[in-house]
Amino acid sequence: SISTMEETTSRSSSKVVAVVGGGLVGALNACFFAKRGFQVELFEAREDIRRARHVKGRSINLALSHRGRQALQHVGMEEKIVSQGIPMNARMIHSPSGKLSSIPYGKKGQVDFRKETCLMCRPVRCFALTEAETYPNMQLNFDHKLQDWSAETGLMTFARSDGSVQEIQADLIVGCDGAFSAIRKQFLRRSRFNYSQTYIPHGYMELTMPPVHGEFAMEPNYLHIWPRNTFMMIALPNLDKTFTCTLFMPFEEFEKITTGEEVMEFFHRYFPDTIPLIGADALKRDYFRLPAQAMVSVKCSPYHIGDKCVLMGDAAHAVVPFYGQGMNAGFEDCVVFDEMMEQFKEDLSKCVVLPEYTRVRVPDDHAIADLAMYNYVEMRAHVNSRWFLFRKLLDSF
Ligand code: FAD
Repeated sequence: SISTMEETTSRSSSKVVAVVGGGLVGALNACFFAKRGFQVELFEAREDIRRARHVKGRSINLALSHRGRQALQHVGMEEKIVSQGIPMNARMIHSPSGKLSSIPYGKKGQVDFRKETCLMCRPVRCFALTEAETYPNMQLNFDHKLQDWSAETGLMTFARSDGSVQEIQADLIVGCDGAFSAIRKQFLRRSRFNYSQTYIPHGYMELTMPPVHGEFAMEPNYLHIWPRNTFMMIALPNLDKTFTCTLFMPFEEFEKITTGEEVMEFFHRYFPDTIPLIGADALKRDYFRLPAQAMVSVKCSPYHIGDKCVLMGDAAHAVVPFYGQGMNAGFEDCVVFDEMMEQFKEDLSKCVVLPEYTRVRVPDDHAIADLAMYNYVEMRAHVNSRWFLFRKLLDSF
């Protein structure tokens, strides 16, 4: 069992920090707290992704930018993670006729913070968990799904897949359990908590482009973009020489396509150059493999309750992906919190680190959410102005 509040002293080494959610932000955050000497318990609802043969849902690859890299640097992970990624030096625009034009991220000689490295979500998560495990004061608990918790006592209830229930207490609870956070539910019951959530009419679908003769089917060091009025496709390279293509389109358009023939008609019309590369059979099959996924934008404030709990990552601010900064902003949350811990000598009592984190972080995270939504709305509003749409797309990716 884990220590209770009574047993703890003011020294961080005996304080228990529970990080709920072992996604990208949770795993990284756990390292930040472990590095400071706290007793860290990480709780993840799913089984250990490193041992899972089939991972349900998203395979997403992500663009790691300057702000995300800085966070990784703090816990000595930057080089190791960047070496698992593929640098993207420019964007490659595919016209409807298949014509290619490359557009660099920044002007010559200019420092460009948008220059990005493409990472695959799963290997990075695996790596971050393995890195977390190297701390002796860290315990990883998989198959622990948070059901409820108390802001008064810090007592959490977890459900296990065998039907058992476990109760665990911590001094600080860090909610990193994603866009549909169970930790955040307690916040919603409280007075003076601001919350908004918006689903956009677009969904997304991932398709895989396999290697050709063991090599990438397209130029790898680019973010490939097919801009097409109300919808678009992008493709990012993976280390296994495949590309993940992500089709963004209004749900009503996704739903119009119901047969393999209709998929082919659609691709012939809008993305003809991708058909031989993805393969007609794979296209007809994979389009129906998983339904298009929804995208939600969540904003809330404050990010903390008393001296007990704090939200970070998508749990605090899910953003639509048209600014490519969701994970990067979550990583930055960890750095900002860590800086405050330094500044206020790890004083987690009611009026110090937690409210300061809310005060500093909410405006920045809201700005990122707004920018991402603004890009999305503008892109939709100007679908008839091709030039404008094109500029907007370049701003977003
Ligand atoms: P998550 O990754 O969602 O992790 C949450 C974890 O908590 C999961 O492991 C989940 O199993 C666990 N959990 C949930 N509920 C419970 C519970 N009750 N108890 C215990 N555990 C629980 N960001 C970028 O920076 N760059 C990009 O290029 C980019 N592209 C994107 C493209 C798409 C299509 C999408 C949808 C998102 C993109 N993002 C991008 C955003 C990025 O994916 C997220 O911001 C990031 O994954 C958030 O990490 P997280 O750890 O906060 O949440």
